[in-house]
Amino acid sequence: MEWQSPIAPGLSWYQVTLKDRPTYPMLDGSVSADVAIVGGGYTGLQAAYQLAANGVDVVLVDAARFGDGASGRNGGQLGTGQHWWPEEMETKLGQARSHAFFKLAEDAKSHLLDFARAHKIDVDFRPGQLTVAHKRGMEDSYRHHIDALADRYDYPHLSFMSRQETAERLGSERFFCGIRDIGTGHIHPLKLLVGTAKAAAKAGARLFEQTKALNIDRADGRIAVETERGTISAERVLIACNGYIEEHLDPRTAAKIMPIRSFIGATVPVPKSKNVLPGGESVDDSRFVVRYFRKTPTGELLFGGREAYTANDPKDITRHLYRQIAEIYPSLAKIEITHAWGGSVGITLPRHPLVEEIMPGVTSIGGFSGHGLMLSNYCGKLYAEEILGRSQDLDLYRDLDVPAFPGGGPLRKPLLFLALTWFALRDRF
Ligand SMILES: Cc1cc2nc3c(=O)[nH]c(=O)nc-3n(C[C@H](O)[C@H](O)[C@H](O)COP(=O)(O)OP(=O)(O)OC[C@H]3O[C@@H](n4cnc5c(N)ncnc54)[C@H](O)[C@@H]3O)c2cc1C
Repeated sequence: MEWQSPIAPGLSWYQVTLKDRPTYPMLDGSVSADVAIVGGGYTGLQAAYQLAANGVDVVLVDAARFGDGASGRNGGQLGTGQHWWPEEMETKLGQARSHAFFKLAEDAKSHLLDFARAHKIDVDFRPGQLTVAHKRGMEDSYRHHIDALADRYDYPHLSFMSRQETAERLGSERFFCGIRDIGTGHIHPLKLLVGTAKAAAKAGARLFEQTKALNIDRADGRIAVETERGTISAERVLIACNGYIEEHLDPRTAAKIMPIRSFIGATVPVPKSKNVLPGGESVDDSRFVVRYFRKTPTGELLFGGREAYTANDPKDITRHLYRQIAEIYPSLAKIEITHAWGGSVGITLPRHPLVEEIMPGVTSIGGFSGHGLMLSNYCGKLYAEEILGRSQDLDLYRDLDVPAFPGGGPLRKPLLFLALTWFALRDRF
């Protein structure tokens, strides 16, 4: 029987089409290490690989199986830059920092593709990303963004798409204009995750699945990570639980990273005659509650978004996906969705990742706010490089203020869902 993630609903198309997904043992007994990592998504596994490859003794535990969180179930779109466009960042943080953040994201993109190449992980990379306007009035800001990146950020890969070009490239007349980015693309996220775990294990990291960290505390000058069947004693700890962080493990991170469920459906292969995304690019739209879609190399449409603003998962994930697909592609109104799944996107209030020292020797990294495919991998690498004394680039994020969500405790989620519902309503006008 197929494995069902215990922390996210539905079987993903990635999982059922990827046969080679090794399992790792549970931690049974107490161990000692230089670094303990809690969380086996991209952040944790990349950090584990980089540390182990450089001779650091690492133990990593995940409460579920690697990739059961966001890293094995996401939209696969790399994107470019951070959540905020550079010109928006300039006004908030100034030119120099905005440039540094853009460079970091470009380094993250190269790192991801270089890492996959070096470790012979076939991540099904396909080039091209289309960002499209779901409402009128976005043309000026799109043109301004394209010019800013070409003139000030040495990024000449964007071009403006008229309404007609947008329609041709999407095979849909639903959008008003767009930006084409030929400097990025999309991948099979679970292949990257599985490959990273294999690389980490091969480099000597000790990896454990289905091993939940229950408590983290300092004891006798070291840090103790307590799990059900044993304690890890380490000099340093990385908390890489992202949207799955629980209050009892680390209340500070839990107050700052809110899990928002996002859902994806995979259809049967779309007939070529439908002319959907003939260039093979991935798409994200301009909604606050973004819709994102792309075709796989074998022609299935992977369509992501969310609709229901409750903390609970909808009973039928496919219902709103069918409607959203039909809005964009009326000719696909009756196409069969074969797999539908969800996952938690960890978002922070300012939509910047969180990098914070929780206690001496314990760093928490997460909250990539929907832009974590490149950035979480790279932050894992930067965390390792910091320990190895090679880079302080994580300070860029560490220096940003990431406040707790208002409301505190039980009020936090209802307040957030209220706010999101408001923004979702605005998307409609
Ligand atoms: C549906 C969806 C679509 C997305 N699409 C995109 C996209 O197209 N592009 C993009 O850039 N980003 C996207 N994202 C976001 C991206 O996937 C994440 O930013 C990224 O994967 C974060 O990786 P991570 O390692 O920090 O966290 P995760 O992959 O979420 O991993 C956290 C891990 O921590 C473990 N954990 C939690 N608590 C404990 C504990 N107590 N003990 C042990 N382990 C624990 C969990 O089991 C989990 O495996 C999407 C996310 C989702 C859910």
